[in-house]
Amino acid sequence: MHRITVIGGGFAGLTAAITAAEAGAEVTVHEAHHTLGGRARTADGPYRTNDGPHALYNGGPHWAWLRRRDLIGPLAPIPPLEAARLRLRHRGALRRTPPFAMLKLLRRGVGPAPVDTDFLTWATGIAGEEGARAAAHYCAVALFHHDPGSLSAAFVQERLRRAAKLPPEAHYPRGGWGGVVDRMAALAWNLGVRMETVSRVDTLPTDTPVIVATSLDAARRLLDDPSLTWPSGRTTLVDLAVRTRRGDAFAVSDLDAPGWIERFTAQDRTLAPAGEQLIQGQLPLAPHESKADGTARAEQLLDLGFPGWRERLTWRREAVANGRTGAVDLPGTTWRDRPAVDRGDGVYLAGDQVASPGLLSEVSFNSALTAVSLALGRRELDLKRA
Ligand SMILES: Cc1cc2nc3c(=O)[nH]c(=O)nc-3n(C[C@H](O)[C@H](O)[C@H](O)COP(=O)(O)OP(=O)(O)OC[C@H]3O[C@@H](n4cnc5c(N)ncnc54)[C@H](O)[C@@H]3O)c2cc1C
Repeated sequence: MHRITVIGGGFAGLTAAITAAEAGAEVTVHEAHHTLGGRARTADGPYRTNDGPHALYNGGPHWAWLRRRDLIGPLAPIPPLEAARLRLRHRGALRRTPPFAMLKLLRRGVGPAPVDTDFLTWATGIAGEEGARAAAHYCAVALFHHDPGSLSAAFVQERLRRAAKLPPEAHYPRGGWGGVVDRMAALAWNLGVRMETVSRVDTLPTDTPVIVATSLDAARRLLDDPSLTWPSGRTTLVDLAVRTRRGDAFAVSDLDAPGWIERFTAQDRTLAPAGEQLIQGQLPLAPHESKADGTARAEQLLDLGFPGWRERLTWRREAVANGRTGAVDLPGTTWRDRPAVDRGDGVYLAGDQVASPGLLSEVSFNSALTAVSLALGRRELDLKRA
């Protein structure tokens, strides 16, 4: 029987553990924290914030895999009346529809964007500079980057198409991603995976193949390999709760600068106490900007979309997520140029900044499957079909 060690019990580590155990391997997971899930944790009440992911995109490879194993659980669909309250800030005012020029980028006839050109240059040729900037800023919902227009056009185009798709790809597990993590952990347990929490690994084991399913920063330290770097975003995270008021926006997407703020209780009442609404926002920061700059931009969006929010405020906190929101690809690079999954000597990387395709956590998922197939010496496709 194959033995495999997985370091990290987040979405990538749990995906790897289940996949390897289903293929018959004897798996041990080491997780530094006392709970599993990594960034996919959901806070315990009364305000059930997600630390990282909210949206599970049904166009991604993880969707079918999770569904087949009954791991998604109940979803929280957005009621149509709430979906109609999506607002876009453009030229300082809230609007219901995107600027016409931005929509030109979503037309069928627009071919694949180039890898080597930045998104703003490429998109300006189709939609004009204002439309191109609006589209780039809209993509902040899936990019978390302060200057999405400076990234590879091909990379941003894929995010634009997926984030603007109708019907929307984004689905929300009821109660947050914590439920998905709990179900994955239960399945891993039932498959015989040994899960050691409060078990920080400082030295790589040499007696089994190892899947390092940590952030890329943690992998760089663990493997003592300075080459393990890749650009990511830096963003202020704003979480708050307000007393309910009819007519609040469902979400406000900032088209004047990158930023997104969403009232998650619009689709899931279980996330906050009765009579209150939970709002989470992310405002990407340029290198010279501070958390306070992001907070100030969040307050502008709140003033527009949630009138009287200051008087209704019941809870609030802010943080900065630096390098925790997945890989971004600069012009001239694609996911294939990121740090390779196979590090040699039976060591494999899984995570959202390594050489695998997909959006955000899908990169963690795809790299976990690749890492397992390489560790077990199987052809990748065999596992992907499973
Ligand atoms: C604000 C924000 C919003 C996001 N929104 C979305 C979204 O809407 N949709 C989406 O799909 N994705 C989203 N993401 C991305 C998603 O959260 C991540 O891609 C995914 O959770 C990464 O999972 P992972 O397992 O690769 O890494 P992690 O979740 O970071 O897991 C790594 C684990 O390794 C452990 N670890 C580290 N070092 C060691 C060690 N030495 N020994 C043992 N254990 C160790 C850590 O404690 C951690 O539990 C978002 C992320 C952020 C921050």
